[in-house]
Order: sequence, then structure tokens, then C-alpha cells
Amino acid sequence: MKGLCLLGSSGSIGKSTLDVVRLNKETYSIVALTANKNIQCLLEQCIEFKPAYAVVPDNALADIFRKNIESSEASDTVVLSGIESLEFISQLDEVDIVVAAIVGAAGLLSTLVAAKAGKKLLLANKESLVISGDLLMSVVKENGATLLPLDSEHNALFQCMPDAYIAGQRPKGVRKLILTASGGPFLNTSSQQLESVTVEQACAHPNWSMGQKISVDSATMMNKGLEVIEASFLFDMPIEQIDVLVHPQSIIHSMVDYLDGSVIAQLGNPDMRTPIAHALAWPERHLSGVSALDFRKHQQLTFEPPSYERFPCLRLAYEALELKGSAPAVLNAANEVAVDAFLTKKIRFIDIPKLIEKVLENSMFNRAESIASILEADKEARALAGLQVERLQ
Ligand code: NDP
Repeated sequence: MKGLCLLGSSGSIGKSTLDVVRLNKETYSIVALTANKNIQCLLEQCIEFKPAYAVVPDNALADIFRKNIESSEASDTVVLSGIESLEFISQLDEVDIVVAAIVGAAGLLSTLVAAKAGKKLLLANKESLVISGDLLMSVVKENGATLLPLDSEHNALFQCMPDAYIAGQRPKGVRKLILTASGGPFLNTSSQQLESVTVEQACAHPNWSMGQKISVDSATMMNKGLEVIEASFLFDMPIEQIDVLVHPQSIIHSMVDYLDGSVIAQLGNPDMRTPIAHALAWPERHLSGVSALDFRKHQQLTFEPPSYERFPCLRLAYEALELKGSAPAVLNAANEVAVDAFLTKKIRFIDIPKLIEKVLENSMFNRAESIASILEADKEARALAGLQVERLQ
């Protein structure tokens, strides 16, 4: 049995991971589960999977949860609170695999701790790699951790890499990484129409069912921008060798273009259980619950370049990657504040890139060599972004 610590179990990736575990019960034992607000979901998961630990970072909410769990069938589960508990469970000896599926910069420290403890680290929390790319990759290398991407595009790229490829190495013989993008719900929406889109429209992704933050990121195409940065660190590829290609059907999840003219792609139905099952079982394979791809239903696979004019977030992400140092952390922090302000109806959809651009223009970047300098850049960017939200309201 492999011991699993699932950070962010109450979220979309967390639930999909438990779906895959349910199909492979003989292979995994759940050591720890975590939630932030959704303690009802966490309680149900604890009753079903009986983890040794459950973490609710907020102390008051953890007290309520503790009372609920004591009178349930999962009364043996130890409830921990405080952000540091996320780090505690990520390095336990009985944990073999850590699934990092907390959303946003909140997932950074537990991800780093799992890497430092040399775990098999399944990374969904792309923000932690965007924020601390060089640092996280060096912690992975120095401590012999195994980093496997869960993001469908990066998981696809990983699957298309040469034999015995290890994340963090520059792959040999590769001309380009081609990240495919669905284009999100506003692929064919005019600039004028974008001015009045609602939260509900932005969160209604045509192909993928995901948490709110990543759904908005997909709508602005910041998600693809974050993925470009993520790919540059994961595969040690220079910016000019990472392309984005809009592929609205979301059947090809990404491609590796080799020097000899071969292009290797990974295909499948758009369902996160496939990359999750791949990474869990790697280097083997097991069931995911995803149905086989029926090519007769997908007779047209189309491709087009992205629009940097209608989706300026994509351009901003390339610019932040080029600036290096703490610029990606600043981009990420500004984006998190902007998306939250949009979701809470304080700013318009089209204000998101404007706000991020202003924060980038007004920021001083550091080299992002230590966790302290990264957290400092994150904090300053959030403060600047908060001021921009006030101005835009
Ligand atoms: P969700 O919003 O559905 O879930 C996020 C999880 O993080 C929940 O368990 C949530 O708890 C928890 N959480 C939120 N804030 C905090 C915090 N401050 N401290 C501790 N835990 C917190 O997100 P997704 O599952 O969609 O995405 C998770 C990550 O995976 C993101 O980084 C995203 O970019 C990435 N990803 C997601 C994909 C998808 O298909 N969903 C695809 C590829 C990558 P609670 O719900 O209890 O509040």
C-alpha cells in the first residue's frame, strides 16, 4: 500500500483524486486529507477513507470539525489546525505520495516541504511552481523527490518526453513544447462583449469542470500563461521554445515537437482523472475511470493561434517569465487578487489584465532566491493589487 497525503481534498482535483483511489483501493491508503472551508465535504471523505489525519487550517473551523468528527464513524482521525499542520502532514514517514492540490500561493509551503522530504510529489498547484520555480526545482533535485505534473498539459508533455525523462532536466532533441489551450468560454467573444461578461459566464468552461479560480484563469487565458511559466521550470525550456496553440476540442492535451520533425502528442477525453491516474501509478498504469477516446466522435481536431489582444494575460505571463526573479510571483499574486475581486464582483472581467499590468509596472523585482524574498514579493504585490482594486471600484 502507498500512503497518500492529499492537500486540498475538498477541491475539484482532490475529489477526482479520491475517485481514482476508489478504483484502486488495494494500492493506496489515505494518510491525510485537508480542506479550507468545506468541512462537510471533508467529513464525508474522512468517514469513507478513514485517514490518520485531517487538517483544517482555521482554528475556529477546526474546533467545529473536531466535534463533528468525534461523533462520526471517523472518530479515530486526528484533527489538526494551523497552516503549519499542512507542512507537518506533507513530510510524515508513512506518506509516500503527496498530491499538492491546494489552489493559489497558499499551497506553496506544503509543496516545498513535501519536496524537501523527498516525496513523490504530484503537482496540481501550478502557482507554487510559478512563484518559486528555480527554488522548488532545486529542492526537488537536492532531496531526490520525484516531481510529476498533474496539470493535464504538463502531464501530457511529460508523457511525450524521451524514455527515462526526469522533470527538471532539459529534454534532448526537442525543438518546441506546444501547450494546447481550449481558449476557454470566451474564445469567440469580441473585445466589446468581454466588457460585460458575468462571473457565471466566466466560470462556465466548455470542456473542463474545475474550481472557480482556475475557471476564471482559463477565461482570461492567464491559466495558459501560468502554464507557460510552469513548463519553463518543469522542463527547463527557454521561453522561445514554448508555444501556445488554441485547440478548442481539448482532445490533444499538449505536444512535443522534436528536431527530427516528429511531433508526439498525448490524447484523451478531457478529464483530470487521466493525468491523476497516470501520475499516481507512474511508472506503471492503472484504471482512472475515464472512458476510452472514441475517435468517431471527434472527427475534427482544429488549431489556431491565440489572440494576445483579447487575452492580454497571456502576454503578461510571457513578459513576467522574461523578467525572471520574483516577476512571476508578482504576476501570480496580482492575478489572485484580481480574480478574487472579479469573483466578488468588485471589478469587471476586463479589469483583470489591467490590474495585473499596473502591479507589474509598479513593482521592484528581487532574485527570488529564498523563500523569504519570494514571500516578500508576494506580499508587496498583493498590497499593490489591493490598491488597484480600490481604484477600480
Ligand atoms: P478548488 O478551488 O476546487 O479546490 C482548492 C482546494 O484548496 C480546496 O480543497 C480548498 O479548500 C483548498 N484551499 C483553498 N484555499 C486554501 C487555503 N488558503 N489554505 C488551505 N487550503 C485551501 O481548486 P481546483 O481543485 O480546481 O485546483 C487546485 C489546484 O490545481 C489549482 O492550483 C489549479 O490551478 C490546479 N489545477 C486544477 C485543475 C482542475 O481541473 N481543477 C487542472 C489543472 C490544475 P475548500 O474547498 O475546503 O475551501
